[in-house]
Amino acid sequence: MMTIKEIRKRLDGGDISCRELTEAFLDAAKRDNPALNAYIRITEEEALRAADAADARRAKGEALSPLDGVPFILKDNINTKGITTTCASKMLANYVPIFDAFIWEKLRDSGAIMLGKGNMDEFAMGSTGETSYFGATSNPHNLDHVAGGSSSGPAAAVAGGLAVFGIGSDTGGSVRIPASFCGLVGLKPTYGAISRRGVIAYGSSLDQIGPIAVCAEDAALVFDAMCEKDPGDMTSVGSEPVTPKLTGSVAGKKIGMAREFFEVMSPPVREAIERAVKLFEKMGATIVPLEFPMLRYTLSTYYIIACAEAASNLGRFDGLRYGYRAESAADLDDFICRTRTEGFGKEVRRRILLGTYVLSAGYYDAYYNKAQLLRRAIKNEFSEMFKKCDLLLGPTVATTALQKGSGLTPVEMYQTDICTSSVNLAGLPAMSVPCGFDEKGLPIGLQLVGPHFGESEILSAALAFERETAGEFLKSSGMGVKL
Ligand code: GLN
Repeated sequence: MMTIKEIRKRLDGGDISCRELTEAFLDAAKRDNPALNAYIRITEEEALRAADAADARRAKGEALSPLDGVPFILKDNINTKGITTTCASKMLANYVPIFDAFIWEKLRDSGAIMLGKGNMDEFAMGSTGETSYFGATSNPHNLDHVAGGSSSGPAAAVAGGLAVFGIGSDTGGSVRIPASFCGLVGLKPTYGAISRRGVIAYGSSLDQIGPIAVCAEDAALVFDAMCEKDPGDMTSVGSEPVTPKLTGSVAGKKIGMAREFFEVMSPPVREAIERAVKLFEKMGATIVPLEFPMLRYTLSTYYIIACAEAASNLGRFDGLRYGYRAESAADLDDFICRTRTEGFGKEVRRRILLGTYVLSAGYYDAYYNKAQLLRRAIKNEFSEMFKKCDLLLGPTVATTALQKGSGLTPVEMYQTDICTSSVNLAGLPAMSVPCGFDEKGLPIGLQLVGPHFGESEILSAALAFERETAGEFLKSSGMGVKL
C-alpha cells in the first residue's frame, strides 16, 4: 500500500512514469484479483490511455491536481459512459451507461487513473460484500473472511495493493464498514456534500459518495476532488475543500462518547477503542460522556426508510427500458414479474417486498410515517450531543470481519450497521480510522462523527491519531503491487 503523497513523489521525481505505474497495478490486479474478486471489470485500455496523457502533462509541468496520475477503483454503481455499470446485479450485468456520473467526471478531470469497476453487494444492499451477482469479495488480510460491504471491491483493492484509493457509496455504512474490516480510512461525507448524479440510487435520502484510502490526508485529497456543487443534483450543496483546513491536532477538543455504543462492542473492539480514547486524551482532548438512548431504534428506522426508498427507486427496472429482460412471458404483467424475479437477487427482492409493504396504504402510518418521526428524534439527539462536544468517537462495527459464508440471518446481518446507520439518518459526516487488530490479525476501526459539514474536524482528529500512532495500524496484506 502506498499513499497518494508517496505515489506523487515518485511520479514528480521522474523515477517512474505513470504508464509504468499503471502497468504495474494492472499486472498485480490480473494476478491477485482472482483471489480477491475486488474488480468486476478491469478497464486496461482506458487506464493506459489516461496514463499516457498524464505522462505527457507531467513532462510539460502541467499536472492537473494532486491526484494526477494516481490509480484508483470506482464502485460499480457509479455510471461510466461506455463502460458497463452493473451494480453487481444480473439486472444490470450488460448495462452500458450513456452518460458519466458527475464525480467520475471530476476525478477524470483531476487526472486520476481509473483501473476498473469495484465489486459490491448487489445494489449496495449488504454489509459483507457477499450478495454480489459476481461472487463475494475476500479480505486481503485473511482470504477466508469478508471484506465488508457494500463497497467491498474498493476496500479490498486498496488493502490488497491493487489501487491507491477507492470510491464507494454509503447509505448505512457501506464506505465505513469495509474500510474498518480492511484496515483503511473510509469517509462518509455530510449529506449533500458530494453530488450523486449518475450514481445508481438505493436510498436517496441517505446515499452519499465517499473515499476509501490508506490515510486521512489521502481521503481529504479525494474528497476535495469531488466536492464541487453540482447544479444537476438538486440535493447537492457542495463543500469547501478540506485539505487546507487539516490541523492534525485535537488539543482542546471535546470528544463525546455515547455509552450505548460501548454496550454493543465485542471484547477486542472494546480494548482497541479504549486504548484509542486514552491516546486522544494524551493528545489534549477532553472526553465527554454522553447518552444516545435513541440508538436502539436506529436499525428499525433505517431499514424501514432504506427499504421504502429502495422499493421506489428500483421500480424502474422492469425490463422495458434497460437491463435484464425475461425471455418469454404470457402478458405484460407476467413479463415484468419474471424479469424482476429473475434479474434481482434474493436480498434485493426481500428489500423491495419489505419496502412495498411499509409504504402500502394500510401500513404506511404504522411503519413509514413512524420511522420518519423516529428519524427526526434521532437527528435531534445528535444535535443535543453536538452542543456538548466537537466530535463523537465510538466503534465503526461491533466486530471484526466475519468469516465468509457465516450464514447469518438477514436480521443478524442488519445488526452489523448498528453503529453506522444512525449517522446517515441524521445526514452527518463520519469516518472509520484503523485503530487495532484482533487475535487473528484482522483490523479494527474506530468511528469519528462530526457535525454537519464538519469533515475537516474529523479528518484532523484522524490525522492526529495517525501521527500519534506512527502508522502502527497500517498493515500491508502482502498482496498487490510492489514498486
Ligand atoms: N448494510 C446496509 C444496508 O444493507 C448499508 C448499505 C449501504 O450503506 N449501502 O442497507
